[in-house]
Amino acid sequence: MIGSTFSGIHDFFASGTWEVIRNLLLFFLVVFWLAVGYWVYKDARRRIEDPLLVAMAVVLGLIPPYLGALVYMLFRPPEYLEDVRERELEIRAMEERLARRDLYCPVCRAEVSADFLVCPVCTTKLKQACETCKAPLEPVWQVCPYCETPIEARPTLELGPPVEPPAIEPPRRSRRRSSK
Ligand SMILES: [Zn+2]
Ligand SMILES: [Zn+2]
Repeated sequence: MIGSTFSGIHDFFASGTWEVIRNLLLFFLVVFWLAVGYWVYKDARRRIEDPLLVAMAVVLGLIPPYLGALVYMLFRPPEYLEDVRERELEIRAMEERLARRDLYCPVCRAEVSADFLVCPVCTTKLKQACETCKAPLEPVWQVCPYCETPIEARPTLELGPPVEPPAIEPPRRSRRRSSK
């Protein structure tokens, strides 16, 4: 009885069936190994810019088999390149929005040019013009940069947004006036 069982097992291993199963197993192991390597390649390409580093990641994903891919997953960059790029674009757009903030009319929010004296939409006075050369002047300027005319009276620019802190300028202006 026992002897016949053993001989049955022996027959099974000796037969071609075992060989087929073993070869199939090996085949799937190799296919899965290559698939893991391909996955590492695709993943690394989305996360790493340098082609040399991508190639190194693929080598690591293949050797040692399976274990290398695990090591790669531990040390791969946490972000996709496209996410990084998208975030950088967003930050740049936000910076541009911030930089352009002063180029809106403070009353009607219409877009205005830096050299506009009044808002063309709501006619709010935006800037004072130089008395001599009619150039638009910034509220904090004390002398016209185009013709060197000292800026005398400060008009009521109650609606103009003070860009710089105004605390610095009064003593300087009074000194200039007294010396004149
Ligand atoms: Zn306006
Ligand atoms: Zn001027």
